[in-house]
Amino acid sequence: MSSNFPLTNEQLKKVAEKYPTPFYIYDEKAIRENMRYFKKAFSIFPDFREYFAVKALPNPYILSILKEEGCGTDCSSLPELMLSDITGVKGDFVMFTSNETPAKEFQYAYERGDIINLDDITHIDFLKDALGGKFPKTICFRYNPGSLKAGGNSIIGKPEEAKYGLTREQLFEAYAKCKELGVEHFGLHTMVASNELNPNFFIDTARIVFALAAEIKSKLGIRLEFVDLGGGIGIPYLQGQQKVDLDYVAQGIRKIYDDVIVPSGLDPLRICWECGRPITGPYGWLITTAIHEKHIYRDYIGVDASMADLMRPGMYGAYHEVTVSGKEDAPRDHVYDVVGSLCENCDKFAVQRQLPEITRGDLVIIHDAGAHGRAMGFNYNGKLRCGELLLREDGSIIQIRRSETIDDYFATLDFEAFKAFKA
Ligand SMILES: *Cc1c(COP(=O)(O)O)cnc(C)c1O
Repeated sequence: MSSNFPLTNEQLKKVAEKYPTPFYIYDEKAIRENMRYFKKAFSIFPDFREYFAVKALPNPYILSILKEEGCGTDCSSLPELMLSDITGVKGDFVMFTSNETPAKEFQYAYERGDIINLDDITHIDFLKDALGGKFPKTICFRYNPGSLKAGGNSIIGKPEEAKYGLTREQLFEAYAKCKELGVEHFGLHTMVASNELNPNFFIDTARIVFALAAEIKSKLGIRLEFVDLGGGIGIPYLQGQQKVDLDYVAQGIRKIYDDVIVPSGLDPLRICWECGRPITGPYGWLITTAIHEKHIYRDYIGVDASMADLMRPGMYGAYHEVTVSGKEDAPRDHVYDVVGSLCENCDKFAVQRQLPEITRGDLVIIHDAGAHGRAMGFNYNGKLRCGELLLREDGSIIQIRRSETIDDYFATLDFEAFKAFKA
């Protein structure tokens, strides 16, 4: 967790002189190595594929690095599909897993040959209408196992309360209908967890989905070609939490594959993930400067980033490790709330956290911010979202997204029209 920040205090200070805080910084080498570990663990399956969840870190530089490591993309909106396109990720390397999807997004995905993953049985007709009667040759459905699958958490909720996917009964009807429509290649998708650290959870999910794949073959004569296990693999945000052992997960799933998939004649079946968090999460940091210090009923450190840059603590009460650059080994003998400038009291990166003494000008490092970080940012309170840097493998640093300007904030206002309105 805290130990993996790749820059010394001197190096970070230099970076902050060139690119004023706040900013995100990502570690290319660590992301590549992590992706290789992920792929290696699942190489025991025929033709394994990871579709990186674009929403976690929607930056084409990152997508391009992951493309080089063999990843596709998992998209849920038109801009995400376009980002994939710009990066050169195309066709069956793009999984379009959306919900409440507008017709024009389906049209775009269809024209690019992306894999369309439908979220409901009624979307078959909706898609056909959107495409003027045409229909893709490949289709995937999202399965919601409902109460079959216990679990869920505050991020994704319980499956039976989740808005996503088709019921078991609907799935059979939906595959049969698509077969009639001339679909030739079928996939099955499910995602019932978010930020889950228990490796057995994923093995159990595979068991449910593999049994269903076998049943679909025996009842409908449809041979699924891929199973997408979704995202949801967690990362250890908290000290003492264990990283998910992907070798253990892969081997556990392989055993069920051998027990269920092979005897039902479904081998080779492509196993896919669409993970975001475990791919880039631990390898991105939000860097911010302590600009205020106040002592009232509690001791506060005010920083120049806010919840508009990183929403997770405010939104979910999520924990992110906080360290102070250059004070990694100093005693944590102060208790602070580390806070941003939003007029919302939940804008706190750390609450009653044991930290070393922080003085104005210190560079504060917020860890594990490489997924669902900058991406979830917003402009409430007129806050401008910060930019993103990439630490290259050769140690150089490039800017991969500038920070927002006031002009960006005003871009959707027409001041000429407003002048006329005022006159
Ligand atoms: C959010 C999401 C993902 C990625 O989840 P992570 O927790 O970042 O791995 C994948 N697929 C779908 C459909 C999602 O909604």
